[in-house]
Amino acid sequence: SGARVRRAQNRRLPQYLERGVDVKFTEVAGLGKIRLELEEIVKFFTHGEMYRRRGVKIPGGILLCGPPGVGKTLLAKAVAGEAGVNFFSISASQFVEIYVGVGASRVRSLYQEARENAPSVVFIDELDAVGRKRGLIKGSGGQERDATLNQLLVCLDGFEGRGEVITIASTNRPDILDPALVRPGRFDRKIFIPKPGFIGRIEILKVHARKKPIAEDVDYETVASMTDGMVGAELANIVEVAAINMMRESRTEITTDDLLQAAQMEERGMLDRKERSKEKWEQVAINESAMAVAAMNLPNFDDIEYITIAPRAGRELGYVRMMLDSIKFNDALLTRQSLIDHITVQLAPRAADEIWFGKDQLSTIWAETTDNARCAARMYLLGGLSDKYHGVSDFWVTDRINEIDLEAMKILNLCYERAKEILQQNKTLMDAMVNELVEKKSLTKEDIVHLVQLHGHTKPVPVSI
Ligand code: ADP
Repeated sequence: SGARVRRAQNRRLPQYLERGVDVKFTEVAGLGKIRLELEEIVKFFTHGEMYRRRGVKIPGGILLCGPPGVGKTLLAKAVAGEAGVNFFSISASQFVEIYVGVGASRVRSLYQEARENAPSVVFIDELDAVGRKRGLIKGSGGQERDATLNQLLVCLDGFEGRGEVITIASTNRPDILDPALVRPGRFDRKIFIPKPGFIGRIEILKVHARKKPIAEDVDYETVASMTDGMVGAELANIVEVAAINMMRESRTEITTDDLLQAAQMEERGMLDRKERSKEKWEQVAINESAMAVAAMNLPNFDDIEYITIAPRAGRELGYVRMMLDSIKFNDALLTRQSLIDHITVQLAPRAADEIWFGKDQLSTIWAETTDNARCAARMYLLGGLSDKYHGVSDFWVTDRINEIDLEAMKILNLCYERAKEILQQNKTLMDAMVNELVEKKSLTKEDIVHLVQLHGHTKPVPVSI
């Protein structure tokens, strides 16, 4: 009967196998040169013998590093799809069980199945869930994780027949992985998948639009510039939502506008069709236009991509999409001048309120942006960015906090005056923008460029603080 049991076990359906994975590289867009590295992994399968004969070591595991939604899972599937091998997957968070031994035994079965059905790709999602440096977590949960990790190391080391089973894992935190995992022969190849850039976003949108009825004249460039910072998963969703919008309105083609609306939705939630009085629309329009006009006159901001006063459920009143100068903001490093410009833009709504409605009729519409400015001013000082406080290390001493606050006030006042100056110098442009916003509710980059052509705009003199 022992034999019968064994045969039954052999016939057991693999638990971790994903059937029908048939993704091809053409479905993963915006990768540029990264694609070459992945094509090489496919070759480990298709030309494994050649590598072995020439003594080229095939990596034990490949680590795909990058933020969620950039396509790491999709890529792992594409490697399996292109090589025509089986795809086994598990999320490492599933390994982490409170019962000692469960995680480890899952790892063992996963690899056993993958070997029995080789050639195959083993994909481990969120490797950091189990692969964190050992000993960091105390208590039984920590022990369990360690046992699972040890088992994984054993499995990674386990085969001689490299090229038959290749492990691909994804993580957003390669820095916290246990050093044993990234030793030669284990996850010894790291591939970084960044968020897509402008061109990448166009390509990703196109890949997803391919499967949909899409208008021929769709302006992908505009959609791509409106989705700055978004990842593949979000872009795929935008195309889906745009298609639903098209269906709802009984049209037969997805238009640029469908995509733009879907992008707004992805970013800011559902459109809220609230009614507002004319005065209220105007007030919101002044608030948003002020930020836009201030930003377009400051050196650390690029173009204004979009302004809208269409309200979204539970969100802010309106919205201005500004492009920060990508070079100056490179690597999220805030320079002194860029912080000052940022504060100026955040104070512009408050300045506009004073200019357009007068001191007696100030509202609180600018409360949030003013708050942002206050925060930024403190950051400027506490970060030691000002000349006066450069290198001072005792900011946190209580009696200096007052001093910092006073200094922050000075910065805020200066930026406020600067915002006011910009708005006063560009009053005609502001008025025109407010009118058009109230009428149309949203302005695109072209609308804004057109307004500037008609009314011009003047740049203020730079200030130093
Ligand atoms: P990750 O594993 O990095 O979190 P996924 O691979 O799960 O991301 O991405 C989710 C979905 O988003 C994919 O199935 C695909 O539809 C879409 N997507 C993500 N990145 C891309 C890309 N580079 N090209 C095309 N589609 C993408």
